[in-house]
Amino acid sequence: MVSTLQASSRAPDSIECINPATGEELGRVPVDKRAAVEQAVERARQAQLSWRDSSFRQRRELLRSLADMVLERTDDICDLVSRDSGKTHEHALMGEVWPVCEKLRWTLRNGEKHLRREAVSPGLLMHKRAYIEYMPLGVIGAIVPWNYPFQNLMNPVVTALMAGNAVVVKPSEWVAYSSLRFAQMIHEVLRAHNLSPHLVSVVNGYGETGQALIESGVDGVLFIGSVENGRKVLATAAQSVTPVVAELGGKDPFVICDDADLEHAIDSALTGCFVSAGQNCVASERLLVFEEVAPEVEARLAAKVRSLHYGAPEAGRVLDVGSLTTPQQRQIVKALVEDALAKGARLLAGGVDLDGPGCTFAPTLLAGVTEDMNIMHQETFGPVMVIVRVRDEAHAIEVANRTSLGLSASVFSRDRSRARRIARAIQSGMCAINDFGGMTYMAQDLPFGGVKRSGFGRMNGRDGLRAFTQARAVLDDRFPFSVPARAFPVRKGDLERTKAALRILYGRGFQPRLRGVEGLLRAWRGRG
Ligand code: NAD
Repeated sequence: MVSTLQASSRAPDSIECINPATGEELGRVPVDKRAAVEQAVERARQAQLSWRDSSFRQRRELLRSLADMVLERTDDICDLVSRDSGKTHEHALMGEVWPVCEKLRWTLRNGEKHLRREAVSPGLLMHKRAYIEYMPLGVIGAIVPWNYPFQNLMNPVVTALMAGNAVVVKPSEWVAYSSLRFAQMIHEVLRAHNLSPHLVSVVNGYGETGQALIESGVDGVLFIGSVENGRKVLATAAQSVTPVVAELGGKDPFVICDDADLEHAIDSALTGCFVSAGQNCVASERLLVFEEVAPEVEARLAAKVRSLHYGAPEAGRVLDVGSLTTPQQRQIVKALVEDALAKGARLLAGGVDLDGPGCTFAPTLLAGVTEDMNIMHQETFGPVMVIVRVRDEAHAIEVANRTSLGLSASVFSRDRSRARRIARAIQSGMCAINDFGGMTYMAQDLPFGGVKRSGFGRMNGRDGLRAFTQARAVLDDRFPFSVPARAFPVRKGDLERTKAALRILYGRGFQPRLRGVEGLLRAWRGRG
């Protein structure tokens, strides 16, 4: 079945959508070619012309209705996510619906605060008022991956609408089926508010459709995906100098110190590694465990990982881990595990057994992982827990930073100052102390994004909202009269007067300032 899936999903005119866990055929979704993408962007531009002037109250009412829709249709959403991605219903609910609800709640409560006009100091120009207006960018092009079909689509939609934009989303070809249906749900809400459905469009297709979207004149791009395609997106956007928020891969470290609460760390590590079958940009890809506690951690984790139930999600069946979403991903995970085992890693649970249904992969635990193994460097994006022993704090930090990626990190220690010290030294966009790093997503006030090759720009929080705006600087009259800046004609003595003024304004201490006043008087006398 794997090869059928691979071959059929790359047809040029339509995408064959298949449940990766069971092989069930879901249907075909037409590929949007360049002309269709350009039309979607043009219609979005027209729709945005009135939406950009909407009040914050109108925007909140729309988001409130979207939240109502999500709650009313939770079962449909989880079912679609599960059938399209192979994820369990539980992970669809906890990992997708819940964060979307939280994003909506946060945006309803905080959106206006971060987007309304902001007064700032006019500096020396005391006769003026200065303020920043967060103007919508226009049309946002959001190109997103398959690992969170609902959340990846809704996240840019919520932020773009709140900031007064229209948005065209290009979901991954691997979740085209559910994405189209999510778009229909959003359109129902837009219509109920007498708004144009073109405010939110979904265009489906492969990489070419994503490229066409950037080339169709969008005003801002959000790209969530691999580093490799991120580079291509940046190169395309560079042609039109279009701003990009790039949310790329991760290889997150998860440090367990010798004084950590092991029970707590072990439970968090399981969450970090196996939620969404590890197909999580902030998955805990490398467990860095202090030597003193490593044997105990390995033994306890081995028992827990072996007890996880995995397989194809079905109604009424309670599973811990569902299927992978793409056959390619299963092959990548398989190759990484095989390479590690060939180079001496110890298999403590799971392993490569592709006899399971669809794209399932057994939750796997590898210990004794070393630098020469590919799994230490390449993103796994699968249900594999990797244990690396570290000698001490300095060694943990060194290993944690020995990667080109820097998305999130977790540090476990009962000594909080030690944990904070380690966390600060790890190069990452986000970190959690005594928690799984991905939990930062649920604190929506926090910016979400990476450093190094994990990308730049931020989703979530104030920075994420403002990423879809242009911070326009305005200098306005404070009084009913205005004092124009006058640089001409240049007069004799201007140079001396200006130098004296600089000393008065910026001199350190009394003496230089006094010299400035003397200089000013001299310059004036000379003029007289
Ligand atoms: P991917 O890069 O293969 O695809 C992402 C999207 O880009 C898809 O919609 C794809 O069709 C499109 N695309 C491909 N080539 C393109 C091109 N040349 N121009 C424009 N668009 C193009 O990624 P994926 O396999 O779908 O997702 C997994 C990756 O996403 C992982 O690396 C994961 O870490 C990353 N990810 C990052 C975050 C984050 O917030 N940092 C979140 C989720 C996933």
